[in-house]
Amino acid sequence: MAISYDSENERIITPSRQQEDGVLDNALRPKLLKEYLGQEKAKENLSVFIDAAKLREEPLDHVLLYGPPGLGKTTLAGVIANEMGVNIRITSGPAIERAGDLATLLSKLEENDILFIDEIHRLNRTVEEVLYPAMEDYAFDIIMGKGMGANSLRIQLPKFTLIGATTRAGQLSNPLRDRFGVLLRLELYTPEELTQIVLRSANILEIPIEQAGAFELARRARGTPRIANRLLRRVRDFAQVRAAGIITAEVANSALLALEIDELGLDSIDRRMLLAIIQSFGGGPVGLDTLAAMIGEESITLEDVYEPYLMQIGFLTRTNRGRCATEAAYKHLGLPFLGQQTLE
Ligand code: ADP
Repeated sequence: MAISYDSENERIITPSRQQEDGVLDNALRPKLLKEYLGQEKAKENLSVFIDAAKLREEPLDHVLLYGPPGLGKTTLAGVIANEMGVNIRITSGPAIERAGDLATLLSKLEENDILFIDEIHRLNRTVEEVLYPAMEDYAFDIIMGKGMGANSLRIQLPKFTLIGATTRAGQLSNPLRDRFGVLLRLELYTPEELTQIVLRSANILEIPIEQAGAFELARRARGTPRIANRLLRRVRDFAQVRAAGIITAEVANSALLALEIDELGLDSIDRRMLLAIIQSFGGGPVGLDTLAAMIGEESITLEDVYEPYLMQIGFLTRTNRGRCATEAAYKHLGLPFLGQQTLE
């Protein structure tokens, strides 16, 4: 049986949401803070804010969640809603095209509800400006007429909490960022935390798995729960067809090998990226756009999806003159390291 996943949509290790994740994502989403594994620092802060808001019987302050895709931002927004005992409405920056769209969403909220805007850095300016008074004064201004004779009518909204999620906090305008009272950065998960997540998911989906099998998936999941869950599903298929149905370390290993994911979770694009830096640019530094053009990927994809993990495992460094491959990257690819050719 040959398994190959070479089109972008079928890439297994991409942390962004794919069609196949839909149903799975929902079934596996933790509902409460105590089921939400890892992210201890963010959870600790949040639970204080949640308790305080509940005591005061007020909505939670607006929260900005940021970090790479697939780390649990949407999940955490749902957890916050459950913990606060309020409704959540989910939308995204690109989906709100006009100020009127935002007005419709806001008018549907009840007191203390949560409005979750994913990819909030992609909101357009006009919509963003309507959001300011909504966040600050729970008010919506309607401008009537034009020029000198224009009047504005202020409509009061119920008190609500905005939760914004973004992979790129740096792209948020300052006035928007300043209106969030709570800023939480989500970090890549450790293999141990991901092992717990895999075991929890396997339990929910009734997939037989050994602890060592879960660890094999976890350490190749690039610090990302969404990838860990996806690997679990793929390896389950493999275990059912090829092995006795139980995911052991050995089954996990051979399945992942067949899927061309190496022992650190790197796939062909990671390898191409590192090889390009090493073979064509003497290890770097090389500018992101040059690199992206060379391997035929979007700069933004390399920056958001590939680099965080390659930097986390110490294979890539970012300098102001470009990206460099480290000695560890050479070693992993089995190439001789002759020292960095160009030093800062
Ligand atoms: P994001 O919004 O950051 O892209 P999601 O919230 O959609 O990520 O999370 C992706 C999947 O990962 C969810 O289906 C959820 O099951 C799982 N997940 C995320 N964070 C956790 C966590 N802390 N504990 C357990 N599962 C998690």
